[in-house]
This record gives sequence, structure tokens and C-alpha cells, in this order.
Amino acid sequence: MNDRRNLYFFYHDDLRNQITPLIDLAKRYGFHIVEHPQEANIIVSIGGDGTFLQAVRKTGFRQDCLYAGISTTGKLSMYCDFDLHDHSKMIDAMTKEQIEVRRYPVIDVTVDHGTTFHCLNEFSIRSSIIKTFVMDVFIDQLHFETFRGDGMIISTPTGSTAYNKSVNGAVVDPLLPCLQVSELASLNNNRYRTLGSSFILSGDRQLTLKIVPEGSTYPTMGMDNEALSLQHVEHVEIKLSDKKIKTVKLKDNSFWEKVKRIFL
Ligand code: NAP
Ligand code: MN
Repeated sequence: MNDRRNLYFFYHDDLRNQITPLIDLAKRYGFHIVEHPQEANIIVSIGGDGTFLQAVRKTGFRQDCLYAGISTTGKLSMYCDFDLHDHSKMIDAMTKEQIEVRRYPVIDVTVDHGTTFHCLNEFSIRSSIIKTFVMDVFIDQLHFETFRGDGMIISTPTGSTAYNKSVNGAVVDPLLPCLQVSELASLNNNRYRTLGSSFILSGDRQLTLKIVPEGSTYPTMGMDNEALSLQHVEHVEIKLSDKKIKTVKLKDNSFWEKVKRIFL
């Protein structure tokens, strides 16, 4: 890690006391602790997967930074490869000449032809009222289906083990740059029909959702663990981003090792 020495810690204030040993450790190994993420080329989140998602979002999905997650729960998770109380793995990573990097795909979401947002886990869209939510779903230019129900989740490979998995979506290897579309309680009968199963799109395709005004047009939209503070929406475009999130590749943290550790 010789070329990266400026380290920023991202954590919730109540952890402040527990961080001191980490700061000392990093300094001892020649890292500079910076006060502002803009000055960093390593960003370390301390907490859980939720904290890691926030760290990436609040620092702007930086392409010139390496991200790392330190778990405070005593268990490693999808984005937390280090344990707060086990310094040996951190020292290992810090003293390596050449660090191997893992790249996680990110989703780009453009709402009403305006701003583009990024998601590391998933973009979710669901009805915010009791009435069903209707959307025309397009794959590239093809009108694929008209969805009626609670909503949809569009997840990245690393997000496939989160919300997507709770609705029976498949777990997807992050070496496949793709997006997975999963339904939330679709209506299926003689009048309304959707595919019914999750489907996986190649990273070259675009998914477009056009909200049909006959249903609710005030959905709740989520980017990972943050709600999008837009209310009315008509048109959402989702595709794989050019951006990737870089993390540290370690001996024992392949994606499938993590899946086994977390779920089996
Ligand atoms: P949260 O409500 O604490 O998250 C729910 C759980 O999901 C937590 O245990 C969290 O781990 C875990 N998690 C987050 N990302 C994961 C991933 N990529 N793979 C496996 N587990 C993951 O909220 P949060 O911690 O801020 O996480 C936000 C995420 O929660 C969203 O992006 C969404 O995927 C997920 N979520 C799931 C459901 C559901 O399953 N019904 C509903 C809403 C949101 P930590 O405890 O380590 O943070
Ligand atoms: Mn959490």
C-alpha cells in the first residue's frame, strides 16, 4: 500500500472512544490520518455493512480511493473484511507492498432525465400508499411487461445478498457485471401479468421504468440505505455504472467465502 497513505475513518460518533487504538496503529505503520475524505486515498468505515454503504455514499463513490470495512459486530460481513479487535489482518494489509484490489459493480439511476445517482446494493422503488403501483418496464427499447404491485428492487451483485435475497432473488457473483431485477408482490391474474421471477440483465442493457398514472405516482425510492427525497416521479433509467468500488482483496474474503460465512 506504498502509494496510498492518506487514510480517512468513517464512523458514528458513539464509536469515537473505540477508534483511538486504530488511529495509533495506522500512524505506527506510516499512514496519515486525514480530517476530510477529499484528502484521502483510503476510506475505512467502522460499523456494519450499513455503515460501509453510507461511507461510500457520503464520500461520493470515489474512483481514486480504496475502501475498507471494519466490523464492530464481532462478525465479518459482506463489506466488512476486518474485525475491530483483530489487528493482525489489518497489519497484514497495511504492510503489503502490492495490495490486490477487488472491484464491485455499481448501478446508475437517472430520475426524470435529471440527476444520476449511484447505488452499491440496490435501487428500490415501491408504492408509498396502499393502492398498487403500476409501471411499464422496458429492457432497452422493448416494452417487456406492465408491472402492478408493491414495487421492484434492482440490485448489484454485492447487493444480491441483501434486500434482493429476502424476496428470493439469486445470489450473484460480483465478477459478473450485471443487474438483477426482483419483484415485490406483483399482481398476477387474467388481467395483469408479469414474469414473476427475478431476472438478470447484462451490464450493457438498460432498464427503464415508466410510472403509469393510474396507480400511485408517489413511490418511495431507496438508494441502498438512503431514501431519495423526490416525491413525484415519471421515468427512471437504470444501468450499470462506469464506476466500481475498489476494496482490498485478502486471502480469505472471496465473495463465496463471505456468502458461506454469512448464510451457511
Ligand atoms: P438495516 O436495516 O440494518 O439492514 C438490514 C441488514 O442487511 C443488516 O443486517 C445489514 O448488515 C445487512 N446488509 C446490508 N447490505 C448487505 C449486503 N450487501 N449483503 C448482505 N447483507 C447486507 O439497514 P442497513 O444496514 O443500512 O442496510 C441497508 C440495506 O438493507 C439495503 O441496502 C437493503 O439491501 C437492506 N434491506 C433489506 C430489507 C429486507 O431484507 N427485507 C428491507 C430493507 C432494506 P449490517 O447489520 O452489517 O449493517
Ligand atoms: Mn445495518
